[in-house]
Amino acid sequence: DLKFADSIARLGTESAFVVLARAQALAAQGRDIINLGIGQPDFRTPDHIVEAGIKALRDGHHGYTPANGIPALREAVAADLHRRHGAEVNPDNVVVVPGGKPTMFFAVLMFGQPGVEIMYPNPGFPIYESVIKYSGATPVPIALEEKHGFAFSADAVLSQITDKTRLIIINSPANPTGGVTPKVEIDKLVKGLLDHPHVALMSDEIYSQMLYGGREHVSLLNYPGIRDRLIMLDGWSKTYAMTGWRLGYAVWPDSMVDAVTRLCINDHSCVNAATQYAGIAALTGPQDAVHDMVAQFNERRQVIVRELNSLPGVRCADAAGAFYAFPNIEGTGMTSKQAQDRFLEEAGVATVAGTSFGAWGEGYLRFSYANSTDNILEAIRRIRAIL
Ligand code: PLP
Repeated sequence: DLKFADSIARLGTESAFVVLARAQALAAQGRDIINLGIGQPDFRTPDHIVEAGIKALRDGHHGYTPANGIPALREAVAADLHRRHGAEVNPDNVVVVPGGKPTMFFAVLMFGQPGVEIMYPNPGFPIYESVIKYSGATPVPIALEEKHGFAFSADAVLSQITDKTRLIIINSPANPTGGVTPKVEIDKLVKGLLDHPHVALMSDEIYSQMLYGGREHVSLLNYPGIRDRLIMLDGWSKTYAMTGWRLGYAVWPDSMVDAVTRLCINDHSCVNAATQYAGIAALTGPQDAVHDMVAQFNERRQVIVRELNSLPGVRCADAAGAFYAFPNIEGTGMTSKQAQDRFLEEAGVATVAGTSFGAWGEGYLRFSYANSTDNILEAIRRIRAIL
């Protein structure tokens, strides 16, 4: 009779992977499946990045690297953050990890324990709530509402701070909503946080290069007043179509670098060496592939928002960032889960129920538009036939 730790039962999951498995099983039976479920670019990693990874293997980079990442990679990250955001970052504050996810896990482990509160966006990336619960901390949702373009409101965040609050997680541009929080709200949040020096902030900026309609990314790195308690997460998965390489990083404040490096040593020792060399090529090489990919996402975004709004019972807010549309489907009479299952089983279209991103996602469905315009149009045609 094995008795597992209670914490294991509290750990959640990311349902997009469950949908992906079901879509693949249906495809294996010969069904024609259009996958608008999974959150990954449908592009290949640019060739010069792939070549750099292969070269690193040929050159004999087969051993451990420093746990926080090879110095040349951390320097490339600092230079990239200066180029993109004008931010001053010391490479010693950059900790490279296998993907975006480890940073959120480590940030939560840094603060989470029974008796403390951690705030997170809802609907939001499901791993935040999962790891907060795992840590034993109390998850405190920040409601993201359609009527505010799924941006967070600084007042809604600040009004929930108590003396038990240890960490606030924000994410803009956001998964699953595509929401982008305007600078005025971020200014207000940071100003308010100055009155609460016991609260740290994790800003998940993994979609920092995917904003549309003339919007510009506002990095929390540009607020000197909170740099000493800011964890800024970004990475390669989305920007360079490198989800399977497993490479991400965060900029950590001085007071946390040592602890997070120990977490890396305990957990994974280091990111595999060849992947890190590919990461240097991504940051220091030409950025044309990124710009082309974002331009294509923007075209598809306009198509999917227009088409979703033409469906009976469906209403879709302008998706400002990332590569997701998050339509309201209440008018169809189906719950999120019913719509997800019917669209997949009957129409062969994979999407993800809004409730996979928190209870407040009921009534919504996430569509990833990381797929061709032809496939998007065909998916909408099939859904229209069902509705
Ligand atoms: N943060 C957000 C908001 C995401 O949507 C994702 C991936 O879907 C990640 C982080 C994690 O990305 P990675 O695959 O690099 O772990």
